[in-house]
Amino acid sequence: MVIPGSWQRAARGAGLLASDGRSAPTIFAEMSALATRTGAINLGQGFPDEDGPAEVLTAAVDAIRRGDNQYPPGIGIADLRLAIAEHQERFYGIRLDPDREVLVTAGATEAIAATLLALLEPGDEVVTFEPFYDAYGALIALAGGVHVTVPLTGADFTPDPDALRSAVSDRTRVILVNSPHNPTGSVLPLETLELIVELAHRHDAVIVTDEVYEHLTFGVPHIPIASLPGARERTVSISSGGKTFNTTGWKVGWVMAPAELVTAILAVKQFLTYVNAAPFQPAIATGLRLGDDYFAGIAAGLQAKRDVLSAGLRTAGFDVAESRGTYFVVADAAPLGFTDAVDLCRQLPELAGVVAIPLSAFCRGEYAARTASLVRFAFCKRVEVLERAAAQLSGLRQRSTTR
Ligand SMILES: *Cc1c(COP(=O)(O)O)cnc(C)c1O
Repeated sequence: MVIPGSWQRAARGAGLLASDGRSAPTIFAEMSALATRTGAINLGQGFPDEDGPAEVLTAAVDAIRRGDNQYPPGIGIADLRLAIAEHQERFYGIRLDPDREVLVTAGATEAIAATLLALLEPGDEVVTFEPFYDAYGALIALAGGVHVTVPLTGADFTPDPDALRSAVSDRTRVILVNSPHNPTGSVLPLETLELIVELAHRHDAVIVTDEVYEHLTFGVPHIPIASLPGARERTVSISSGGKTFNTTGWKVGWVMAPAELVTAILAVKQFLTYVNAAPFQPAIATGLRLGDDYFAGIAAGLQAKRDVLSAGLRTAGFDVAESRGTYFVVADAAPLGFTDAVDLCRQLPELAGVVAIPLSAFCRGEYAARTASLVRFAFCKRVEVLERAAAQLSGLRQRSTTR
């Protein structure tokens, strides 16, 4: 069967379809199926195994009972837009007009999709770092853009400034930034953010910044790129309630941008989902107004989980990068004698009862070859689950030394 139109072009561009047009099951689907089949601990997909704050859950239940069950306004309910504006001022000193500079979306994913569809002409270039969140490749292709990547290198997964300079040109329409970064757990240093702003000005590009892990950093501050001098007028900032409130299935995200950009993005968004999540919108507003102790607590709790899993991976013999944010840590299996992470991930349920994702799922060609032995593990799981995973993984070292 031939799948017609843009989806096929997008899927091929993003490597989701083989050249004969058949859909290749993504490594995510393959690994989730493997976890289900083998009963292995699933440290592949990044979703928490615990509920978020009771106030937020109760607010959603109350909203359903109260009858918030029909289409909300296209731009999002007023109280959530107000809560988003209050949150930006409280945490970052950024003042937004909630009626003109904030748009509620079906998760960060729709925000990114609508933004790229609104901004790109066919052939426009979009610069991202590599590895990149898998949806970026597909959405850039779907919007007719050309995806240019800058490798994240070194132990801290940061870009070389000269590589960044040479990737951005007058052909660049969008620089798509993600910090804290999925899949590497890196947080971009201030100098890199400043360079992005400088390059966006020089080449008249728009900065689109995916900050869904803004509250999940470990010992380093999150710096929204829109807070830098000269950034605000050309930046579309995107976040979501999913990661902050353990509600990844609710899909409440938002865009914060100058009014004319919000208008352009809304024009596309209204024909994607139109609206979503009526009872969850007031609940996320409740979440955004929780006290500082909540936000400090989730970062500290996740940092402790990171430490449990990272220590376990080191004991098992992996070379482990320091994760400074997100749900994820990257570990190199080469010291264990595994040069191909795809191979290792296919065997891992049997070897250690654990499922993880090879980093190559987030890269293409040349970079994937350079990082072939790297694996992404999710640590957004209960501590006892991570301890069990760590204990099971510790057997890997013996196996690899006896091979
Ligand atoms: C989880 C995630 C998203 C998706 O967020 P939703 O609100 O669920 O759409 C977007 N970007 C990154 C980097 C993510 O990890």
